[in-house]
Amino acid sequence: MRADLLQVVYIAAAVLFILGLKSMSSPRTARRGIIWAGAGMLVATAVTFAAPDMTNYLLMALAIAIGAAVAYVAARRVAMTDMPQMVAIYNGMGGGAAALIAAVEFMHPGVMPDSFAILGILGALIGSVSFSGSMIAFAKLQGLIKKSFLFPGQNVLDLLVLAAAVVLGVFAVLQHTGNLGGPEGLVLGLFFGLALLYGVLMTLPIGGADMPVVISLYNALTGLAVGFEGYVLGNAALIIAGVVVGSAGTLLTQLMARAMNRSISNVLFAGFGAHGGQELAAMEGAMKEMAPDDAAISMVFGQKVIIVPGYGMAVAQAQHKVWELARLLESKGVQVKFAIHPVAGRMPGHMNVLLAEAGVPYDKIYDLEEINGEFPTADAALVIGANDVVNPAARDDPGSPIFGMPILDVDKAQTVLIIKRGRGAGFAGIENKLFYGDNARMVYGDAQDVVGKLIAGAKKV
Ligand code: NAP
Repeated sequence: MRADLLQVVYIAAAVLFILGLKSMSSPRTARRGIIWAGAGMLVATAVTFAAPDMTNYLLMALAIAIGAAVAYVAARRVAMTDMPQMVAIYNGMGGGAAALIAAVEFMHPGVMPDSFAILGILGALIGSVSFSGSMIAFAKLQGLIKKSFLFPGQNVLDLLVLAAAVVLGVFAVLQHTGNLGGPEGLVLGLFFGLALLYGVLMTLPIGGADMPVVISLYNALTGLAVGFEGYVLGNAALIIAGVVVGSAGTLLTQLMARAMNRSISNVLFAGFGAHGGQELAAMEGAMKEMAPDDAAISMVFGQKVIIVPGYGMAVAQAQHKVWELARLLESKGVQVKFAIHPVAGRMPGHMNVLLAEAGVPYDKIYDLEEINGEFPTADAALVIGANDVVNPAARDDPGSPIFGMPILDVDKAQTVLIIKRGRGAGFAGIENKLFYGDNARMVYGDAQDVVGKLIAGAKKV
């Protein structure tokens, strides 16, 4: 295929990809979006085989086959709650691949044009940081690294390592000849070593609570690195994919940080969430337990119930039972609505995906701004494995680490029924006054078990 025609097909593939992404902005059109985006990627990959300078057919086919097989098995097996780890690994690989492209380009003998060398080394720096940082993020989310490493002067050390990597990068650009046998090889080796080290140092102090935001940030960085290397290779598909991933990742990072009322610099440099679960403040009053049968009765005899799912529903995979309960309540004349907080669960859209999987119609699912005014008119709010997103401290306590985060005002419902297994804290590791409120009743147990008992209880009425 002619080179200019190839670029046109790449652009067409990119348009498909972007349209696909656009469709993913609503649950209604998300499936279609995935098909479009997938088709875009397929077209881009297929035409690469027809590129004029293409020789490594076998290597490419092998790489695609291995990657596709691993991704297929992993995607089918991964639990919904482990999705952030999976994204971290795949995303890190993208950054690593961009850094490797740069390394290969710097190994070619001869002088590169300045713009290629500068963008190549920038992509290498960003890609390496994204790779090692994403691997640490994966290890933390997977529970392989349990501690958050915080020590005085950490930010200064990080800055020094980054500065040293940048200086070496400048040297690598200035003295590039492609002869890696002498000092040039040493400079490049040290540069990559320090860039990787910076990614590790930058991620180690960040607590698990902030990891999804960090992963999204690395996603944005990977996109940028891929875009730069696309420029070096003169490949339109890589440039466009890099820019799209980079901007989507940036928007997602901002959205998540905003929904948690945190700035991105606060996420990166404050070590918040690193103390998860260790500093529970003493609360006044006692939690009041309620048997599932009684909780079921209080809902059946109400007129309006608002269900608030959270991370615990995802852990328990209770979404199918929750929808069964909702339908049962509706059959008994109760109006049921679902309220979704933008950061409920562990990734954006987590609850929407689970409820959609269970078959809950979209018109029963409400965003925070749409539903918050309705809690005072609800007979019961049923909180299923949610904690931080319903913590009134975010609204009322300026000293709370989550102060300012918008919350679902479940405490304003007549009765709040809370399903959780015990006294476990939420993601932010702080106590929740909601559970001690006069109108709150704890229905203890695994979300799936308890909702099963609520169904049985409601059927008896
Ligand atoms: P959460 O605050 O993490 O609380 C989850 C609660 O579920 C825990 O208190 C736990 O208590 C309970 N639980 C766990 N397993 C359970 C099970 N099998 N059955 C019943 N209950 C169970 O969850 P959230 O309210 O959804 O809040 C999400 C948090 O993640 C927020 O702090 C948010 O900022 C953070 N976050 C979210 C995103 C995102 O994109 N969604 C990104 C970054 C950070 P027990 O142990 O007592 O059962």
